[in-house]
Amino acid sequence: MNLIHADVHVEDTCYLNGKITRVHDVLKVVMRKNVTKPVDMRFKITSIHCPTCGGSFDATKNKICPYCSNVYRMEDIDWSVEMLGR
Ligand SMILES: [Zn+2]
Repeated sequence: MNLIHADVHVEDTCYLNGKITRVHDVLKVVMRKNVTKPVDMRFKITSIHCPTCGGSFDATKNKICPYCSNVYRMEDIDWSVEMLGR
């Protein structure tokens, strides 16, 4: 496993005490990569291929393959967010 630590800068618009304010926030993020799997440049979360049966489905809607009922785990395939916070 390979870990990357990064700061993510976000701009947010808040409605607070009757006025709209812009808030700049810095979030800490830790990403994890399964280095045993090669990087797939054509990878799309909405059209993933089941590692068990090869069936294609949308991993944002299904965590279980609709063809073979294999549980799809994002972290087994590529980058995943390990931690997100301040
Ligand atoms: Zn499958």
